[in-house]
Amino acid sequence: MHQSFSRALDFLYPRRCPVCDGVVPAFEIRDGHITRGGLIHKSCHRIIKYVRGATCVKCGKPLSDPTAEYCDDCSVKAHNFDRGYSVFVYRSVSGSIYKFKYMGRQEYAAFYGLATKKLLGRKLKALGIEAIVPVPMYHAKERKRGYNQAAVYARAVSAELGIPVCEELVTRVRNTAPMKELDARGRRNNLKKAFIIAKNDVKFKCVLIIDDIYTTGSTIDEIAHEFRMAGVEKIYCLTLAIGQTT
Ligand SMILES: [Zn+2]
Ligand SMILES: [Zn+2]
Repeated sequence: MHQSFSRALDFLYPRRCPVCDGVVPAFEIRDGHITRGGLIHKSCHRIIKYVRGATCVKCGKPLSDPTAEYCDDCSVKAHNFDRGYSVFVYRSVSGSIYKFKYMGRQEYAAFYGLATKKLLGRKLKALGIEAIVPVPMYHAKERKRGYNQAAVYARAVSAELGIPVCEELVTRVRNTAPMKELDARGRRNNLKKAFIIAKNDVKFKCVLIIDDIYTTGSTIDEIAHEFRMAGVEKIYCLTLAIGQTT
């Protein structure tokens, strides 16, 4: 979007803070100068916890034991993706993501995208990613909600990193039961053949799968498996938030 146009929109539709949902002023007066306002209140930004320090070398989860290589989950289970990255510690942004997902607050993606670039931009750019692929939503569900939050986040990341997003590549062919109601085995069975690659020939060798929240990684594993079968060599994943191992 053109910058001046987006500025005009800030006046018409004040931007909301991704933490408290209050209005963030479009402009601020600092040292007698008018500057453009931020995407989040400064005091609210301090509440958010970023994923920093020792993380699992596989899924990217913060580790309680900084000398460990893998988290409890990854030390007993193999994943189909090469490496995962996350931006926020889930607990600190659960309310924000809930509003982003269920209450139409797609505008939060601007902050999420910028935060992703600041924390992981350099790392992600060095991976040689050719396409960003959001976890697709079952079409009837997406129609009902009006948008797929993973795709909205993926577009924001794409704009910040300058890597194209490819939304039509993977399709969710089955509506799956809400994952929170199932145990690990149930989750895997629930996802069997839930995704298909829409094209016979995937020309990418390196992709980044994007979702909003990382829990067990089973959804991403299913898509990564399909990519693997299609000949994709490097499969990374990025989620907005991840839990912490206790
Ligand atoms: Zn706020
Ligand atoms: Zn892990």
